[in-house]
Amino acid sequence: MAKPIIIAGPCSAESDEQMDIAFEEAAKRHVDFVRCNLYKPRDIPAFDGLGEKGAHLLGKAARAGLNPALEVMLPEHVDMAMDAALPHLSEDGKLLVWIGARNQNHIIQDEIARRTAKDPRVWLMVKNQPWVAERHWAGILTWVLDAGMPPERVLNCYRGYTPSYGDKNPEGFRNLVNFEEAMRVKENSGLPMLFDPSHTGGTVENVFKMAEMSAAYDFDGMIIELHHDPAHAYTDAKQQLTWPQFDELLAKMQTARKA
Ligand code: PEP
Ligand code: MN
Repeated sequence: MAKPIIIAGPCSAESDEQMDIAFEEAAKRHVDFVRCNLYKPRDIPAFDGLGEKGAHLLGKAARAGLNPALEVMLPEHVDMAMDAALPHLSEDGKLLVWIGARNQNHIIQDEIARRTAKDPRVWLMVKNQPWVAERHWAGILTWVLDAGMPPERVLNCYRGYTPSYGDKNPEGFRNLVNFEEAMRVKENSGLPMLFDPSHTGGTVENVFKMAEMSAAYDFDGMIIELHHDPAHAYTDAKQQLTWPQFDELLAKMQTARKA
């Protein structure tokens, strides 16, 4: 397997202090992208990200030699992120934006991809929709590629399926997973497939289990939520690992891969 692509950092950017720590920890570990996430889709009103107020953090990440990554919900968010990050990127730096699971309006997906296509430093990741539908997932990829996004800058990410009608996942994880399906979509699309152990797992213990299970499959990397003080995180407090726990998880995945 080629070197895995790692996107790591807090669920949400909350403050300069919090992100300064994240940037330092991410730089030490040479992660490919640091989560510097400014827009959070929420089911019920709650903290939904710093939005534009956090735009300077993208520039800060870039000036620290890091590649920032964030979810975009609207085409305007792409413009905001490009304006804030691109002037500050290092020579071979990149900006990654992703379309989250809940953003299932193809007109918006198409317009986001048209905007990311414009600059070769901008990558686009697509997360699967929350409900089980392999055809729909493949459809999102077709929309963004047809909008002109070069496949070399497109990543796919499996985040499992949200249990329906409020039913708890019988296996005790946050989301339902079907690794074979993710592998089929990878094969059919020819695009790199990342895994999200955080949103599939839902608790620190389950993030470890998910990551170790995923090691048996041909994923090309992962997106993982890390926080220096998870108990006080504004969002997804239960599932964020500390950076030392992340080191432990990588070591366990190595062992699982060799087994
Ligand atoms: C996220 O990665 O921040 C996120 C909200 O995940 P998803 O869109 O998969 O629910
Ligand atoms: Mn999250």
